[in-house]
Amino acid sequence: MAQEDVFKKIVAHCKEYGFVFPSSEIYDGLGAVYDYGQLGVEMKNNIKTYWWQSMVLLHDNIVGIDSSIFMHPTIWKASGHVDAFNDPLIDNRDSKKRYRADVLIEDQIAKYDEKIEKEVAKARKRFGDSFDEAKYRATSANVLEHVAKRDALHERYKKAMNATDLDELKQIIIDEEIVCPISGTRNWTDVRQFNLMFSTEMGSTADGSMKIYLRPETAQGIFVNYLNVQKTGRMKIPFGIAQIGKAFRNEIVARQFIFRMREFEQMEMQFFIKPGTELDWFAKWKQTRMAWHQALGFGADHYRFHDHEKLAHYANAATDIEFLMPFGFKEVEGIHSRTNFDLSQHEKYSGKNIKYFDPETNESYTPFVIETSIGVDRMFLSVLCASYEEQALEGGDTRTVLHLPAPLAPVKLAILPLVKKDGLPELAHSIQNELKFHFNCQYDEKDSIGKRYRRQDAIGTPYCVTVDHQSLEDKTVTLRNRDTMEQQRVAIADLCGILQDKVSITSVLKGL
Ligand code: ATP
Repeated sequence: MAQEDVFKKIVAHCKEYGFVFPSSEIYDGLGAVYDYGQLGVEMKNNIKTYWWQSMVLLHDNIVGIDSSIFMHPTIWKASGHVDAFNDPLIDNRDSKKRYRADVLIEDQIAKYDEKIEKEVAKARKRFGDSFDEAKYRATSANVLEHVAKRDALHERYKKAMNATDLDELKQIIIDEEIVCPISGTRNWTDVRQFNLMFSTEMGSTADGSMKIYLRPETAQGIFVNYLNVQKTGRMKIPFGIAQIGKAFRNEIVARQFIFRMREFEQMEMQFFIKPGTELDWFAKWKQTRMAWHQALGFGADHYRFHDHEKLAHYANAATDIEFLMPFGFKEVEGIHSRTNFDLSQHEKYSGKNIKYFDPETNESYTPFVIETSIGVDRMFLSVLCASYEEQALEGGDTRTVLHLPAPLAPVKLAILPLVKKDGLPELAHSIQNELKFHFNCQYDEKDSIGKRYRRQDAIGTPYCVTVDHQSLEDKTVTLRNRDTMEQQRVAIADLCGILQDKVSITSVLKGL
């Protein structure tokens, strides 16, 4: 099945089973805004708990906060967002569609890469076992031509972006003969800057009201509270502040479901360090965050680092952790060495001294910062995409199964009486009443046992317990594993202990 079709199926699956709904659906939806349903919210909460505990529980020098979405507007002036949080946009006059100029050019660079890979694949087929790929890449005239074109384009693009040269971005689009995917024409407008922040008014009178912004990142709430936390928590550098919260961006092109939304959630941690130590800490946090992702067990081949070509105005090193989605490797998390840009700016704009006094060296300095910033929704999407499988079974049957890591699964255990009589529902309910204090259980007595297993497979429930007539006699049940479909007979009294180890977030934290 084409990856595009797989993705469509995942989106439909999310809606059908109550993971994610389009927002305001009965009014035909609202662009790039989504709601999490009854299962989605459970899984999202599990992702947030996994992140929060890995930061705050596992590090005694990291604490959390929860700052407001509304903040003083000068914060966004100081941070550079009012002047520089822009995307370059371009319209096609025929289709009236709007695009990000940088994305059009990046897609063109990817096309050269595809051409190169196609040439190599063709040659591999032609030469069979005797194929020397490295030599072919170094000598094939076709490959070398594509590489030269890609590199030249890449260089030109990088220069234009770094200089924020909008005319040059348009010229690249013209020179590369990039067409609008809808109209197929090259009838482009000029490239303009578009600020991504939403704004609103605070205050009741027209005169007395103040323009304020919905935060486009949670990080600034941490920076402006840095001194409060450092002082009241008696924190010593190096230390970190973690926060989970909503962020808002008026994205020009919002597509790919919950990958790019206008309202989304971030999990950010700012780690305050001594100037000069930033590159060591940057390397350390890169590894720590990659280990966090990989502990979920999807395999190292699903992840890669992508170092930034164009550094944000505040950064001196930056990388993304990318995840292999059905539409290619895409950013899920950013790790940035933000220097002391933000704290210095807030010192300047607020006029307050927010330096750190180092009791060991007796010096005062403005700390440098390493930031790790991950989108909850993108993480959610990556977990779903990697877990979704339409599996062919023996005998020609198929099942749709979500191989969710058990600690992230919305429901951990389904409790199923084999039949709706003979005291089996009562025993099943008593098991549920015991286990519901430990993890999310679901009771289901409707339809055949096979159908009930399929329903649980489709929502990623890692274990099902079936209560049968033997259960009444010897107080045992069958425990079915979602992935292997194997069943074992276990004592009801042992269930909690067996499952706790497998489904708790603690189990994955211990593997870090
Ligand atoms: P992109 O290049 O995809 O626009 P970004 O580099 O602007 O993302 P950051 O500012 O580094 O993103 O934000 C940190 C994280 O927040 C991202 O890695 C992503 O997971 C998440 N994020 C950013 N924008 C969105 C969005 N519009 N919808 C959902 N998640 C987002």
